[in-house]
Amino acid sequence: MRGGSDMVDIGTHKATVLTDLADELRKIPVQSTNRQCLLCLDDKLCLKLCCTDICKECFPGNFINYDYKLKCYVCSKIVPNENFFKTNEFIQSLKKLDHTSELVKKIDFQICHCGSLALNETMYSKQQCQQCSRWMCFFCSADWDDTRMKNQKHTCTVNCVWETRLNYQSESWHESTLPNRRCCPKCALCGSRDDKCKYHTCLCGHVFCFICLAAKADCEKAHPGVSCYNRCTTDDKKQDYSIFPRLMS
Ligand SMILES: [Zn+2]
Ligand SMILES: [Zn+2]
Ligand SMILES: [Zn+2]
Ligand SMILES: [Zn+2]
Ligand SMILES: [Zn+2]
Ligand SMILES: [Zn+2]
Repeated sequence: MRGGSDMVDIGTHKATVLTDLADELRKIPVQSTNRQCLLCLDDKLCLKLCCTDICKECFPGNFINYDYKLKCYVCSKIVPNENFFKTNEFIQSLKKLDHTSELVKKIDFQICHCGSLALNETMYSKQQCQQCSRWMCFFCSADWDDTRMKNQKHTCTVNCVWETRLNYQSESWHESTLPNRRCCPKCALCGSRDDKCKYHTCLCGHVFCFICLAAKADCEKAHPGVSCYNRCTTDDKKQDYSIFPRLMS
């Protein structure tokens, strides 16, 4: 495991951003007349985010939902932070959060509780932080516990992050079954099914089948006449750790 420089872990950073967001929203003028907030549907003074009227109460929830990005609820465009927020320091903090978020999407990258960055060359879970000497599971960052955890590749086997992302349950669905969650074949983000048909729209915009994992158009083409409420194939397509991006290839 290779070490690196100081950084704040992403949970702490997100909490700070949310606290600062409350202050930041006070600096942004609302529109001059009442509008219907697209989220709570109340008539009140709203902020204008691209084509979305949104009240200050609903704003933080929407921001968290879209992974700390300014996504328009109506047209799905991402609004650049500097076009909406006012304080440079806050905008810089969001930029740093974006950068960290990109890094922590890599399965071979970790930030220890002490703020040290680490890369995993062996992909075994039991690793020691070079800065604070803590033995931990590299993947979920929990303190290492020999009585419960196993030193395997990609997982310590105790509710470990990446293993959890690959796991899903088959839930009953229209007289058949459907996986309750899957990782997006395009961006690897794990998402739960939105309670409708077998096609799922990921936050990245990619629409794919929860069963065969093909893009919606390809699934439809390969299984003509099968409705979105019917299974395309009998087996759920398997995913493994190779779908997750890495810093070192
Ligand atoms: Zn609202
Ligand atoms: Zn818009
Ligand atoms: Zn450490
Ligand atoms: Zn673990
Ligand atoms: Zn995606
Ligand atoms: Zn399919």
